Amino acid sequence: MMTLCEKCMERLGTGTIGDCVVCGNVLDRIDEITDRILEKIEDYEFESFDVGMRLYGSINSMMGFLKEKYGIEDDLKDALRRELVKAISSKTGKKREIGGDIGIIFCPEDLSFQINVKSVYIYGRYIKRVRNLSQTRWICRNCMGEGCEVCNFEGRKYLSVEDLIINPAVEIFQGDNGFLHGAGREDVDARMLGAGRPFILEISKPKKRSVNLSMLEKAINEMAGGKVEVRLISYASTRDVPKIKNARFQKVYRAVVKFRGDVDEEDVVRALNELKNTIINQRTPKRVMHRRADRVRKRRVYGAELILMKGRTAVVKIHAESGLYIKELVSGDDGRTKPSLAELLGVECYVEKLDVVAVLGGLEDGNLKYNPSAFMDQRR
Ligand SMILES: [Zn+2]
Ligand SMILES: [Zn+2]
Repeated sequence: MMTLCEKCMERLGTGTIGDCVVCGNVLDRIDEITDRILEKIEDYEFESFDVGMRLYGSINSMMGFLKEKYGIEDDLKDALRRELVKAISSKTGKKREIGGDIGIIFCPEDLSFQINVKSVYIYGRYIKRVRNLSQTRWICRNCMGEGCEVCNFEGRKYLSVEDLIINPAVEIFQGDNGFLHGAGREDVDARMLGAGRPFILEISKPKKRSVNLSMLEKAINEMAGGKVEVRLISYASTRDVPKIKNARFQKVYRAVVKFRGDVDEEDVVRALNELKNTIINQRTPKRVMHRRADRVRKRRVYGAELILMKGRTAVVKIHAESGLYIKELVSGDDGRTKPSLAELLGVECYVEKLDVVAVLGGLEDGNLKYNPSAFMDQRR
């Protein structure tokens, strides 16, 4: 006859009370284990939790033995999980939920546990009013972020939208770190205007989870001092991150174009008209070749119009498919982008200043307004 603890005896319907050969009396220590777990998470705000088990094998072989020797089908892992959930729930008043705010992985074999605090996600849009601001953190390569003379002891090459948004958010949520997941990115020297670019802000290991978003929005906007402005729209989930990162929203740009020769306004209008509703063949631009594979991408220009022209300077508005490089659409990039404004005009030209004035899509409708795959078929 096996000796078992009370709980295992009840569950298995056999045995005599004694040192438990099935659970090693872990089930008698649930209360103490729960207290140890709660001590570790007492600083974290949470509404739900989940308990998982990690086994190294001795419990599995015990289950195999029970089945073989006594014909008993037991699931100790599940019994342990149920007991822990019950104890944590009753001590905290919080509910168990798959993928809850706090994940507890318990190992019954050495009574160790691991705590995973789920990140907080917030959906919003940012406006970038200044140039020479990177979207994501751009550390100084000379010192790898340590701070050196090259980077003026800032540890970074450019200040970033991410720094400006993340710093107040991490502080307010009392998190470990933060990340900005943008729906695409503008060039460092381009501004992002209009209604802003959709993003998901992620704060890892937050101690607070229910921060008033308008308060956070105000804090970010104050700290950013007009360089960046955010609108925080709603709390989001981890599933929204790929939706935003993989989104292929159409964009509208405003570019200040400089011509290296005299051009007639009518010719510019005609060339822009020719670009309208045209598929552009674009080889990876020379300026990004060092970090992107050299290939030809096909992207559509939906609209192109002249806003203003004065001498050898024009302001143009371009509505394009996601992924089209606008600077190269204008300059032609030594024939790597075809057709281009320069090619159609027969005059060298380049973008002096670039602004993104609209990113057409977002999660506001609970849905992507633009289906990423919808454009794929039209590309040839
Ligand atoms: Zn037991
Ligand atoms: Zn440095």
